[in-house]
Amino acid sequence: MTIHAHPDDEASKGAPTVARYYEEGVRTVLVCCTGGEEGDLQNPALREPGQPFHGATPEEEREIIARLRPDELKKSIEAIGFSALHMLGYRDSGMAGSEPNNHPECFHMADIDEATGRLVALIRAEKPQVILTYNDDQAGYPHPDHLRVHDISLLAFDRAGDPAWYPELGAPWQVSKMYYTLWAKERVLAVHEALLLKFGESPFDEKWLARPSQDHRITTRLDIGRYLRARTESLLAHATQIDPSSKWWFGLDDDELAKVYPWEDWILAASVFGEIPEGMQETDLFFGVREHVSVTS
Ligand SMILES: [Zn+2]
Repeated sequence: MTIHAHPDDEASKGAPTVARYYEEGVRTVLVCCTGGEEGDLQNPALREPGQPFHGATPEEEREIIARLRPDELKKSIEAIGFSALHMLGYRDSGMAGSEPNNHPECFHMADIDEATGRLVALIRAEKPQVILTYNDDQAGYPHPDHLRVHDISLLAFDRAGDPAWYPELGAPWQVSKMYYTLWAKERVLAVHEALLLKFGESPFDEKWLARPSQDHRITTRLDIGRYLRARTESLLAHATQIDPSSKWWFGLDDDELAKVYPWEDWILAASVFGEIPEGMQETDLFFGVREHVSVTS
């Protein structure tokens, strides 16, 4: 089970990892907490004549985006390979300090116990062994909805297996492992160098390159070189949110990226099997789980 804030987050964070396990026959479940109603149009080509946003006012653009995003999400999850999609049912809070932060239905305004309860109900129904969520350190992109995903994931990890919490929401289920997603600094630098070689310039600016490294926290490195098409196809499915001409996203094609950095990295944040032995790095999210249960679709 992977928990994301907005439609398109499942494409930019962990898509090849999910594609790998889906192909292996693992049941893969996406929980998307908001509808992404506050996303801006990121693809200027859609304002050209004959395109859906031609001549639209900013208010009309927002309405069209809200209408298109569910379909973009559907295409994205087909490209990645998700067995199920659950919308948690909140409204996008928008960027910190923006007016939509105060909307009564927005995720960041929701009562934390109520929001955690919605996630607990899904965990008890789906019985995931592993959940993937957002990092405790999100200083690089402190979107209120992303911070909230982290908060309810931690609470739900503890409460889903605790019969004292939400007894009306199904039988307790203890998730075995929880991971945080990250874009490794090593990956950013490797892609930056490859883009410089290819184009003589790179869209990774000083601000990006100065982001502090969290690579020392990586516990788990997955070989996903064969599954990078899931990232590309799912990103392109979010046509309003991703500019297909962006070098930042698509400057390297799948084969080039597979040569430069064929991994996705994860931080093991909680595990019923205890910590990973010093000096060891996992190569499988289900390490430990496979020894206890058979993983089937
Ligand atoms: Zn997001």
